Amino acid sequence: MKEKKIICKQCKKEFNFTIGEQQWYAEHSLNEPKYCKDCRKIRKDEKTNSSKQNVKWEEK
Ligand SMILES: [Zn+2]
Repeated sequence: MKEKKIICKQCKKEFNFTIGEQQWYAEHSLNEPKYCKDCRKIRKDEKTNSSKQNVKWEEK
């Protein structure tokens, strides 16, 4: 396993998907992240604040 680079879908910045994170995601049977940490945080905050303005955060 090695560190992966992923382009954030929101801000288009490249971020590292570290080995530790990959292991965590694998353990929880999650797909690899599409968003960088900053955007995920914003996204989480937005979800908490409003439930109806998530159109731009559509997920498959
Ligand atoms: Zn981002």
